[in-house]
Amino acid sequence: MTGTLAACRVTVLASGSAGNAILVESNGDRLLVDAGLSPDAVERALAPAGVRLVDLSAILLTHEHEDHARGAGAISRAAAVPVYGNPATLEAAGAALAGAVVRAFETRRPFEIGRTHIAAFPVPHDAAEPVGFTIETAGRRITIATDLGSTDASLDAHLAAADLVVLESNYDLGLLCVSRYPWFLKNRIMSGRGHLSNDDAARALARTAGRRRAVCLAHLSEANNLTSLARDTVRAALDRAGGAADAVLAVPPNGRRGPIAVG
Ligand SMILES: [Zn+2]
Ligand SMILES: [Zn+2]
Repeated sequence: MTGTLAACRVTVLASGSAGNAILVESNGDRLLVDAGLSPDAVERALAPAGVRLVDLSAILLTHEHEDHARGAGAISRAAAVPVYGNPATLEAAGAALAGAVVRAFETRRPFEIGRTHIAAFPVPHDAAEPVGFTIETAGRRITIATDLGSTDASLDAHLAAADLVVLESNYDLGLLCVSRYPWFLKNRIMSGRGHLSNDDAARALARTAGRRRAVCLAHLSEANNLTSLARDTVRAALDRAGGAADAVLAVPPNGRRGPIAVG
């Protein structure tokens, strides 16, 4: 690595229904937020960042759904990486974490891993006790919230204070309505405990505009969204809100992005 190192580096290794994992590196700490891929796939995704499984400090689970937790137990067993989750998530993940090194945290009670400060906050989603994370390191704040059906004032406070926001922008309402998905599934996605639409993400980001942030839109649906549509919807709402010019990035459906320098 050459040149001036950023205070913090975030790499979206995978994002979408096929699997989610985000690497946050700072001060020698390497946190993996979710591990919804096989250990081999995580290892391959880490390689361009020069990181091996054994270099990970911890895995943080947002919730137990397979696309977020699938590889956590196997990585922990193979590379002795501790898996952090709240007790309800660790229990719901069940056999997938057998033999893993697990550490419980309490939602709303901040904790430290190495020199990194972490706050887990509740989000509405159809899982046991789903959370988002605000990770503070080297004077920078990163808020990660994927898999949530609606937004509220407590999320807004995290979004407003972040230097980098990774936020779900799952579907375009028009595309979802005309897609081949059965209605029960469309209703689940659109519910307050499902997923955020491009318009939902745009509204939350516009409401909290003001501070200069980078925004990375994530967990885009392959069937019901387009990268350009998500990005343009959010960009337009931010421009109308008249806040500082946020950089807006979007991860392609079931794609990856990074590294994003924060700082
Ligand atoms: Zn998911
Ligand atoms: Zn989920």
